[in-house]
Amino acid sequence: MIDQCGREINYMRMSVTELCNLRCRYCMPAEGIVKKSHDEMLTEDEMIRAVQAAASLGIRKLRITGGEPLIKKNIVSICRRAASVPGIEELCITTNGILLPSLAGPLREVGVKRLNISLDTLDPEKYRYISRCGELSQAIDGIHAALAEGFEKIKLNAVLIGGFNDDEIPALAELTRRYPLDMRFIELMPMDGNRDFGPDAYIPCTTVLDKLPEAVSEAADGGVARLYRLPGALGRIGLISPVSAHFCAACNRIRLTADGKLKPCLHSGDEYSLKGLDDAGMVREIERAIWRKPSWHGELDAANRSRSGRNMNQIGG
Ligand code: SAM
Ligand code: SF4
Repeated sequence: MIDQCGREINYMRMSVTELCNLRCRYCMPAEGIVKKSHDEMLTEDEMIRAVQAAASLGIRKLRITGGEPLIKKNIVSICRRAASVPGIEELCITTNGILLPSLAGPLREVGVKRLNISLDTLDPEKYRYISRCGELSQAIDGIHAALAEGFEKIKLNAVLIGGFNDDEIPALAELTRRYPLDMRFIELMPMDGNRDFGPDAYIPCTTVLDKLPEAVSEAADGGVARLYRLPGALGRIGLISPVSAHFCAACNRIRLTADGKLKPCLHSGDEYSLKGLDDAGMVREIERAIWRKPSWHGELDAANRSRSGRNMNQIGG
């Protein structure tokens, strides 16, 4: 479907839980979040009906996210059913990778084609610090499990944080020489929950290019990342700059939260509730949300925080 700004909206990110087995400092409060009641959250059937409604309006790509989607007990069933919704051509998951050793195989089997795995650092101490409780070795095991299952595409995502991991840009980029995966650097977004970070933490993605002078530009592949490759590398380097160079004019996505709110823009407070609606009601509400998708998300930086009204674990990234 085309929105009122003329953008074709064909990509939905669906969060299946707000809960997580990590507590990343840029995403979630240390104490976790107040668990909402079962009745407030979408059921598996409602999620699938929402995917069907969205597909009937032209959504072709679906990304399952969270919180951490792999802690959801019925994640394999959700993915199996979502993959078989007519119109859905590509099913992807964003995960921290911790549970991939046991789930990569079943997810691949039911039709998940692509994985994005978060990896902010290669240092076990720093991983423990940023995630507040995670073990780097578990995430690395998860990445190897994913590589072994032969997903069509695996991308690693690092949130770029000045003074934390900017010194690791070459080491993270080096992974693309050894493994067939893309390494993407994402600018830190000023969400409500990440007030730990001062202005120096917000560094632009161009820092990556300063540290990788040998990277050669590649043609874009339809996504929001600017792409580069190190000489001879198997995978690409991607730069995603929501803060320093927003890509709102090319934005093709909507987001559905685990409590059933459709967000046409990540950084706007606008939400359209799908909870409790019948099939026709869901189609109507999704159509309304897409049509009214804001033209851009407004200034974002350390001083101008996101107006989303949620932390990232309650949206899905
Ligand atoms: N738990 C999964 C994971 O970590 O990949 C999926 C959910 S997580 C909210 C989705 C993505 O959002 C992750 O890649 C994470 O790094 C990113 N993210 C979270 N908070 C962010 C922030 N403040 N700025 C930029 N990216 C953020
Ligand atoms: Fe959990 Fe992902 Fe947020 Fe980290 S970024 S706290 S893994 S939802």
